[in-house]
Amino acid sequence: SRKFFIGGNWKMNGDVAFVKSHVNFINDTEIPANTGILDLDAVGIPAPHLAPAEVVIAPPYIYLDSVRKHLKKEVGVSAQNSYTKSSGAYTGEISPEQLKDLGIEWVILGHSERREIFKESDEVSAGTLSTLLLCPPPSLSLFFAHQTTQFNPHFLHPPPQFVGEKVAHALATGVKVIACVGEKLEEREANLTEEVVFRQLRAIADRIKDWTHVVIAYEPVWAIGTGKVATPTQAQQVHIALRDWLRNNVSAHVADHTRIIYGALPPYIDVHLTILEPPSISFVQGLSTARTAGTFVTSEGDIDGFLVGGACLKPEFSDIVRTKA
Ligand code: 13P
Repeated sequence: SRKFFIGGNWKMNGDVAFVKSHVNFINDTEIPANTGILDLDAVGIPAPHLAPAEVVIAPPYIYLDSVRKHLKKEVGVSAQNSYTKSSGAYTGEISPEQLKDLGIEWVILGHSERREIFKESDEVSAGTLSTLLLCPPPSLSLFFAHQTTQFNPHFLHPPPQFVGEKVAHALATGVKVIACVGEKLEEREANLTEEVVFRQLRAIADRIKDWTHVVIAYEPVWAIGTGKVATPTQAQQVHIALRDWLRNNVSAHVADHTRIIYGALPPYIDVHLTILEPPSISFVQGLSTARTAGTFVTSEGDIDGFLVGGACLKPEFSDIVRTKA
């Protein structure tokens, strides 16, 4: 069986005051053993049975030390990125060795925001690309001739940020990895979802010898903070495809034991009943990502947890921690 996994990705959020209050809040959050059922009966969803979850939070680099020092030990701490080298002249970068030095157990790698905004690539090496550019074959020159209107300097000089290499280096250092994959909207609409996530997974898988400390996070880019919603079935289809890919390309053991978690959880439109004094009833609409987590887990069997963004900064994160089928 696969231990349920809840990751909280703070992204570039928080300050010293938030760190203090949030660490206290997480320390007070009970990590479920086999009790503490999230009440989904109200919306006609059977209440799930609970089993212990693994909870990991990922604050920005500068707060990692403070969070690790003050957070209870049963909750893991993750960085949001790390570099491919151990040390050296790489201004602004952090190595897995340095994370380990602080007692940070995990790192998120290949997040779509790193891929999109900072142009991290699967595996294209800068060396290969510059060779191609120095001696371009005729077809490539033609390609560039057509690129003039949307010229992207990153394409000429991609930063040496290779997700597969980063994964390999972090694992070799003894830092566990949450490796992210996910397709963009235009890729989904062009029926390229599997092609894209398989390519991203292959770039990672090619570098992994031991899968014990790897969690795969499927985060459809089009559903992250956009208001667009992936259904539990859409998520499950990709999770099954990823697991089948692992079965066919790595091993049955790895497919059965590797946790595939889901990111980009939408909020659930929730209706609360409020009994007022004098007696009357009012309906309050609220948004709960915790409840969505419940529907994803109860309706689909292949989702081993979540990588939560915005909602992990809110009190409802404690409800998400308690979600488990
Ligand atoms: P949201 O939960 O804010 O959509 O973000 C998901 C995510 O990117 C987690 O890594």
